[in-house]
Amino acid sequence: MYLRDLKPCCDRFHEECGVFGIYSDEKRDVANTVYFGLYALQHRGQESAGIAVAHDNKITCFRDMGLVPEVFTEQRLKGFSEGDIAIGHVRYSTTGSSTAFNAKPFVFSGKVGRMAIAHNGNIVNSKALREKLISENIVFQTVTDAEVIAALINKYIENDILGAIVKAGDELIGSYAFVIMTSNKLIAVRDPSGIRPLCLGTYRGEYIVASESCALDAVDAEFIRDLEPGEVLCIDFKGLESRFLNNRGSALCIFEHVYFARPDSFLDGCSVYEARKEAGRILAKKHPVKADIVSGVPDSAVVAARGYSEVTGIPYVEALNKNRYVGRAFIQPSQGMRESSVGIKMNAIKANVKGKSVVLIDDSIVRGTTSKKIISILRAAGAKEVHLRICSPIIRHPCFLGIDMQTHSQLVGHKRSVKEVCDYIGADSLEYLEVDELLETVKGSRIGFCTGCFTGKYPVEFDIKDIDKEKFEE
Ligand code: SF4
Repeated sequence: MYLRDLKPCCDRFHEECGVFGIYSDEKRDVANTVYFGLYALQHRGQESAGIAVAHDNKITCFRDMGLVPEVFTEQRLKGFSEGDIAIGHVRYSTTGSSTAFNAKPFVFSGKVGRMAIAHNGNIVNSKALREKLISENIVFQTVTDAEVIAALINKYIENDILGAIVKAGDELIGSYAFVIMTSNKLIAVRDPSGIRPLCLGTYRGEYIVASESCALDAVDAEFIRDLEPGEVLCIDFKGLESRFLNNRGSALCIFEHVYFARPDSFLDGCSVYEARKEAGRILAKKHPVKADIVSGVPDSAVVAARGYSEVTGIPYVEALNKNRYVGRAFIQPSQGMRESSVGIKMNAIKANVKGKSVVLIDDSIVRGTTSKKIISILRAAGAKEVHLRICSPIIRHPCFLGIDMQTHSQLVGHKRSVKEVCDYIGADSLEYLEVDELLETVKGSRIGFCTGCFTGKYPVEFDIKDIDKEKFEE
């Protein structure tokens, strides 16, 4: 058993999933392309991986628990028939238990034959939709949102699958970016607020859709554009056709830039790398401190730490070493184990920190246990002072939109002041970015942002009583 196979630790954010799809004009080894795309999206989910290939009016699918290379051995990839359409998925579960049964893509038989769907996000009203569909005699095999979306689309299919998706989309409340495949179409859908990212690329006349542009780069595809919020994009032998769901403004999850996405990705026209570096620069201007070295918590805060160093002139030096052989989603059932597991994942580089005052940059503080442990590791290694600077505002509210942070009780910042959080984690000083400062880092984006976990104002309206109590405690 790997550490990542244990139950989720909520001290860091977890993204729910990554999706990838390809449409080719001719039959070829499309499963291989999806494999490399999923490899590039592995940071979005490490629990399970799956690929579905359409060929000869059939769909072949394989999915299992584990990282992409663990699930798809060379032998397993060779087992896929050549096809012209394929989709893939990497998953970190925030809904449904972490089992192979709930892994994606989800394959089903509907009114237009065999179909497969892979989804990223969280449907806030999935419980209510599921109950309504059950009352209409529809049966479910899993508790995942993907199956609810599939059943809803199938219910509305008459002749036109795109029309059915638009109808279904108007009933879905929450965040979703999904790819759906029939025997002759690849369809990509981004929710009306664009909370989760989804982009389109091309490789030698083939079309590719992916959660992030880094997955297009991985398969040598050329980036065409991001899907618009609310866009339903259909790719088939006639070419591309878009329809749109009812517009609800635009609100990409700002944590895509802060933490989830890879720094080499662009989201809606904005470089993740540049946004992170700018966060470090702003922290340096707003919250300077006298110190010997500046360092970033690997991996997501390293770029921001370089930005802080650039402005202050304090040298950037690695203070922490990350054990890369522990999955990103390492996990413990108890608080005690959770704290000790940070030491397995991260260790101080004594030679660099002994006798030094350190400015440490991190992307966010959720529960506070990781920050507390990292600071104690640095002190044990001889650091004289540890000043923590955070590239996002204090998190005061839960997220119901697909991030594993769903109750107030999980948040150290819910009712504490900055000073109280600082005392709790044991730093010499602690400063956060303000919401407007964080928005400044992403001013190059073509669309707006969700900042719900800082402000309590979410881009979608929902009734708290619709929320599945098993999914969200409060
Ligand atoms: S509430 Fe926070 S974590 Fe959730 S989607 Fe909005 S910005 Fe992202």
